[in-house]
Amino acid sequence: MSSAVVVSSENLDEKQQSVSTPVVHAAEKKVNLLGMSRAELEKFFEDLGEKKFRAGQVMKWIHQYFVTDFAEMSNISGKLREKLEKICEIKAPDVVHRNYSKDGTRKWVFRVGDGEGSLVETVLIPAEDKTGARKTLCISSQVGCALDCSFCSTGKQGFQRDLTPAEIIGQLWMANYSYMEEVPVAERERTVTNVVMMGMGEPLLNYDAVLSSMQLMLDDFAYGMSKRRVTLSTSGVVPKIDQLAQDIDVALAISLHAPNDELRNELVPINKKYPLQQLIAACQRYLAKDGNESSRRHVTIEYVMLDGVNDKPEHAQQLLKLLKNLPSKINLIPFNPFPHAPYGRSSRNRIIAFQKTLSDAGFVCTIRQTRGDDIDAACGQLVGQVADRTRRAEQWKKKVAQQQEILRTQG
Ligand code: SAH
Ligand code: SF4
Repeated sequence: MSSAVVVSSENLDEKQQSVSTPVVHAAEKKVNLLGMSRAELEKFFEDLGEKKFRAGQVMKWIHQYFVTDFAEMSNISGKLREKLEKICEIKAPDVVHRNYSKDGTRKWVFRVGDGEGSLVETVLIPAEDKTGARKTLCISSQVGCALDCSFCSTGKQGFQRDLTPAEIIGQLWMANYSYMEEVPVAERERTVTNVVMMGMGEPLLNYDAVLSSMQLMLDDFAYGMSKRRVTLSTSGVVPKIDQLAQDIDVALAISLHAPNDELRNELVPINKKYPLQQLIAACQRYLAKDGNESSRRHVTIEYVMLDGVNDKPEHAQQLLKLLKNLPSKINLIPFNPFPHAPYGRSSRNRIIAFQKTLSDAGFVCTIRQTRGDDIDAACGQLVGQVADRTRRAEQWKKKVAQQQEILRTQG
């Protein structure tokens, strides 16, 4: 296990192991086929002088049967398999730690570079719903995040780099593969039913890589997921919401967290660039794009409940007004504290009262279940698990320490 990684063992006692060898072995500098969209793979095969349909065949081997060895691809000629082995590879990011809980939750820490903090985490959360067993994977899109929301530990880590399509789709590949490792290739199935782009990073600021990864999620030759079961969560990069509406049909979640500009400027600083009115208008355009045929019947509004900050009755009233003309479902997220966090979690009673105001006005409003804080903490605030040595994090810790010192001397 990397010394940079500290994974809580609470509630994660069943199958916890450090992984010192990469799960997928391959030589360096080969072309990695894992993150290629269908169009890219078709071009790749055409450039090799092969027929386009090879792309679909290879995609199925990779994304539906979780095969990384070309020798196992039995419907591909021996000659082509040999050629592929020489020039390409199928390689997910290296797993440095994995953690399988008794309650079904699974976590992976991936190494995506040489730097000390070059780690991202992926979490799988199982649940029962009307349609049966759901397995939702929370996927990261960047190492760190540049947007610095005041309640988010990923933001406190600063931005390091964008993930590549192979690193993004590799998280889904690995989660599915983890259920099929022991299953004969011909009997393998895709297990993950839902994806939320709610791990580390702002997905709309790594647009191209996130888009091609989501195309693979929806592609019938890859994961073939329903468009309603792939959700992109954004803090509100308005121009990219419009671009997304043109490019793909997935569900949209907005990290709103405040019902007025003054408070949102403080909690979600990108609001200074794209204030609430612009954000709500972009959501309305997103829903208007394809009418009822699409996944776009509503947006999900995420609202983190911060004690005494955004959880008062007047905030609920403002939220009602703000969302009046936007078909939306609201998800209240009890705040997950992290070291040096300047906020506390709203009390259960406060959250329920807030929910009641919204439900009474006709909104579908749910409270996100906390299934053990160590698990929830990983979705959207990963810094507790991942080393945090950036300058921004250091400056921020200093500032918090100074404030605490002032409070101590005053009190
Ligand atoms: N950058 C994107 C997606 C990643 S964050 C976005 O902001 O939407 C995923 C979700 O977790 C967001 O709604 C985010 O606001 C929320 N989140 C971040 N830190 C949190 C914390 N400490 N407690 C609860 N939710 C948090
Ligand atoms: Fe970035 Fe999202 Fe965290 Fe804000 S909440 S800092 S946008 S990861």
